Amino acid sequence: MTVEATKQADPGAISGGLASLRGALTGDLLVEGDPEYDKARGIWNAMIDRRPLAIAVCKDADDVVSAVRFARDHNLPVSIKAGGHNVAGHAVCDDGLMIDLSQMRSVRVDPAEQRAYVAGGALWGDVDRETLKWGLATPGGLISDTGVAGLTLSGGVGWLRSRYGLCIDNLVSMQIVTANGDLVTASEESNPDLFWALRGGGGNFGVVVSFEFALHPMNPKVMFCAPIYPIEAGPGPIRAWRDFLADKNDRIGSLVEFSTVAESEDFPKEYWGRRCYTIAAVYAGDPVEGERITMPLRELGDLVTDFSGQMDYRDVQQLFDTLMPAGDFRCYWKCHFLDELSDEMIDAAIANAIEAPSDNTLSSLWNFGGATAKVPADATAFGDRSFGWMYSIDSVWPDAADDESNIAFTRKAWDDTRKHSQQGRLYLNFAGHGEDNDSLVRDAFGRNYVRLAAIKAKYDPGNMFRFNQNIVPAGVH
Ligand SMILES: Cc1cc2nc3c(=O)[nH]c(=O)nc-3n(C[C@H](O)[C@H](O)[C@H](O)COP(=O)(O)OP(=O)(O)OC[C@H]3O[C@@H](n4cnc5c(N)ncnc54)[C@H](O)[C@@H]3O)c2cc1C
Repeated sequence: MTVEATKQADPGAISGGLASLRGALTGDLLVEGDPEYDKARGIWNAMIDRRPLAIAVCKDADDVVSAVRFARDHNLPVSIKAGGHNVAGHAVCDDGLMIDLSQMRSVRVDPAEQRAYVAGGALWGDVDRETLKWGLATPGGLISDTGVAGLTLSGGVGWLRSRYGLCIDNLVSMQIVTANGDLVTASEESNPDLFWALRGGGGNFGVVVSFEFALHPMNPKVMFCAPIYPIEAGPGPIRAWRDFLADKNDRIGSLVEFSTVAESEDFPKEYWGRRCYTIAAVYAGDPVEGERITMPLRELGDLVTDFSGQMDYRDVQQLFDTLMPAGDFRCYWKCHFLDELSDEMIDAAIANAIEAPSDNTLSSLWNFGGATAKVPADATAFGDRSFGWMYSIDSVWPDAADDESNIAFTRKAWDDTRKHSQQGRLYLNFAGHGEDNDSLVRDAFGRNYVRLAAIKAKYDPGNMFRFNQNIVPAGVH
């Protein structure tokens, strides 16, 4: 269910208010017709074409306060753009106010305290660049130009999850502008209910202008394992990978990624255009030891090729960037958390990879456990951590004419594998285009939903922040 504004916006008052907002902002205020308007409303998924009433390009927390107060005073809904990677396109709204944080990307590191202070519009590449200068890191995503904010607030899954957990597990505090326009701190000591809700509850509670992350000592090099098997290798290597990880989920972040061999000199020509899977893994520890330990994953059959090796961690964090260029492709992604990775689920993943209509589509089996599983279900809004695996289907294609077939494929593959899911639970950062919002959100949060709805009612009773995996404020029907 989507909650509409309880009061109507007044168009006359809004146009007068926009002039005052323009004067109050250090950054720009963009409206239809401004040269930068179309660029600012563009995001990673080329399918999304929405037209905000205005875009507040914020340069600092004061700008965000001004923008939110303007929206509050004019009963306007607000969408928030950080990295713009959200596949459902929640960063952009029709007719409301879009808060664009793309110019708030600073990262400050306190090496003595092992902390990073990250602005609300920063990308993961910004964080890695600054923290690795000090030999420190915090878990991020797999792609360097994904936004820290959107990825983190719904959980945050990256290579270091085995050893250091999800991104939210490394949050120490946040500075956030709530729906009434106040800048507040959320931490264990200050507004702990909000701190709990923000760790998994997405963009429902306000605009986070700064994140404080705990950092960990990081070897500049890691072992990156990446043997590529032809799809004809079948389930054997994947079953072996599953069994191999049984006692190593605390050190190895890994996924089996199904894809199509690119027509590139990097691959033997006989495999060009054929489906394959990569057993990708990062060993979070000494790279020499990692190379020895992960070697069996590279010896499970005939290979297309093997990209494994000891690499700079920062390079690993950018390796997948070229697979997914921003703004060029249309996409629709879905996923399930899985209790177990059964032989039947592996067979289904292989069959789906073969059937995918687009050669750009990726699908993946991800391991969990380790540090991620150690956090109790009620410690963060994200909820239960007992799932051992995730299956994600990332459909990606270039032409609008193929929208229907690709979305239908993804939904069917998702429906067919739902029986393997952990009671319908899914990762809300891979949740289609936001359709079925109410059931997806309830399934994802499980028992935490009621508590989240009460906190939403406290901090955003009018549902100003509704362009997200929306939590309906308690008491609103
Ligand atoms: C190419 C690609 C690779 C990805 N890889 C990974 C991965 O490795 N691991 C993973 O976990 N996920 C991954 N994702 C999914 C990603 O986590 C989500 O798409 C996420 O929403 C992206 O965050 P963003 O800031 O870039 O998105 P945006 O589209 O800018 O924002 C998404 C939503 O987050 C909220 N939000 C954004 N900024 C703020 C803020 N400052 N304060 C409050 N709310 C805010 C808003 O609700 C907004 O609508 C990937 C996505 C893509 C497209």
